[in-house]
Parts: sequence; C-alpha cells; structure tokens
Amino acid sequence: MRRSLELLSFGAALMLMIAAPVHAARDLLIGGGSVTGVYYQVALHVCNVLNQHSGGKYNCVGRPALGSVFNINAVNRGLLDFGVAQSDRNWQATNGTADWEKKGPVDKLRSVFSMHPEAVLLVTRQDTGIAEVADLKGKRVNIGNPGSGQRGNAEDVLRIYGIDQEKDINAEGLQQGDASRALVDKKIDAFFYTVGNPSAAIEDPAQSTEISILPINSEAMKEHISDKPYYVMTSIPPGTYRGVEEPVETYAVKATVVTSSDLEEEVVYDVVKTVFENLEELKSSHAAFKHLTPESMLEGLSAPLHPGAEKYYKEMGWM
Ligand code: GLU
Repeated sequence: MRRSLELLSFGAALMLMIAAPVHAARDLLIGGGSVTGVYYQVALHVCNVLNQHSGGKYNCVGRPALGSVFNINAVNRGLLDFGVAQSDRNWQATNGTADWEKKGPVDKLRSVFSMHPEAVLLVTRQDTGIAEVADLKGKRVNIGNPGSGQRGNAEDVLRIYGIDQEKDINAEGLQQGDASRALVDKKIDAFFYTVGNPSAAIEDPAQSTEISILPINSEAMKEHISDKPYYVMTSIPPGTYRGVEEPVETYAVKATVVTSSDLEEEVVYDVVKTVFENLEELKSSHAAFKHLTPESMLEGLSAPLHPGAEKYYKEMGWM
C-alpha cells in the first residue's frame, strides 16, 4: 500500500513536471571592447542589471569584442543582440560613409541608449619627447585595431594635422590591451584610444611609466568637429591619471548601446526599462558611469531609435 502510494505521488509529480510550462531564459549577448576599456564594463554591468532584475526572463552575457565598427557589423548580422559603439560610427554606418562607404548603409542599425562620453586620447611616454601631434612624425604609433572606433578618429586626427599615416609614422594596429603594454615596454611611442574616463587601459601604463596625454585642439580640428553634431570639445580633468596634472583639451563622442531592427520590441523594451529602473546600480558599477542621467542617455543617438526603446521613453514622458 505504502509503496503504491509512493509510486502514485511520484507519478503525480512527474505529471506536474511535464504539464508545467518550462520557460527557458532568453539568451542575450552584448559585445563590448577590449578588457581594459570601458565598453566591456558596459556589456558586463548592463547584463548584471538584467540578470538580477528580470526575474529569470533573460540570461545576458557581456563579452569582450573588437570595438565599435566590429559591434555595429556584428549586430547587423545577428551575431550579437546588442553592441556598444561610438556615436560617430553609428552616424557613419547609418549614412553609409567612412567604413561603410563601400558596403553601403547599415539600414537595420538601431539606437537603444547612450552611456558615458568618450574622449579621443593620444597617450605617450614623457621620455619620447613627443609634446604635440606634429611630433608623431617618424614615431611608432598605435592607431587601433581594425574594427575599433578609435582607428577612424586616429586617421582623422593624423590627416587634419597633416601627417601621412603611410609615410610619416610607423602605424600599428594593436588591440588596446597590447597597446598599453607596448607603450610601457617601449615598443611603441604613442597610442590613440577613444575611451571613457577613467579607463584601466590608461591607468595601468600610468602606474608603470611616466605618461602624458596630448591636446588635440588645433583650429583645423575644431573646424572639423564644428559641423558634426556627434562631436564636442572636452577637457580631461587634472589628476584623472597619475602624472597628468594639467587639463588636456581634446574632442569627444558618446558611447552608445545599439541593436538591430530585427530584435523584438519586447526584448528591447525589457532591457531599457530594467536599465532605467536600476540606473543607480548601473551608475555605481564603474567610475565612468557616475554622471549618467536619463537626459544624457537620450542624447547622441545617431542611429534611428529602436521601437522598444521609444515605447519606454514615451511612457516615461521623456520624448
Ligand atoms: N571607443 C572604442 C571603440 O569604439 C572602445 C573603447 C572601450 O572599449 O571602452 O572601439
């Protein structure tokens, strides 16, 4: 009797397990940048917020990736659900210029929200004697790996300062982790990096060697950014990095989270709602995020807004 009762309840439990719908969490993948940059932190912490607060609906993974251009193309091909990308790259992808001149516009690219501002930094060691952009001539300079956002900025800066990237410098295409190390090891003399501050990619070499960050603020440079709404002049406050005690004037873009028009409205809505409902948690997860506000996060969206994001912003009366 007892045994048959046991069997009966086992059977009932089995029936229940079969009958109960099993909702597997939806996997989401967010592509960032190199591990010492800030994009990877965006990917990690947006995923953390989502995994903590979506009641098991999503299983989000933030992974390192090659940067803006790579992320835009990967999102477009459905290899990533979301990517972090510079606002200038989003504009170029949407309009089919720069890296997308030959391939044509990325029609499916959609904005979700902005994150931190990113400054175009030119970092050198004090012992190189490089005191201004013009001094890069004859030097070994990392302009960024193909796929990174900084590579296009480095190319613009060199061109605008009259430096021929093929003839006047030894241009390297290292990923940022390698570039920071190569600067300390004296294998390169300088690197360009477009990044939020503070970034471990600058903090690490600043701890091991004497660095300087050079201004990128010539009249020609200011002219170049003046008609582009996704660029602004900025200043790196003294003390942001060890050894850099004067403000450094340069220009900046916004880091943004982008996706594809193929991603369902519900998913994008859930991600946006969860991020904004837990903004304090996201802000405290990295120093580069501490000034984020809903207002700043709706600025610099140079690809069309995804309908899932728009729905939430309208509900909140933010647009
Ligand atoms: N802005 C860089 C890029 O677009 C990445 C910076 C970072 O990883 O924080 O590739």
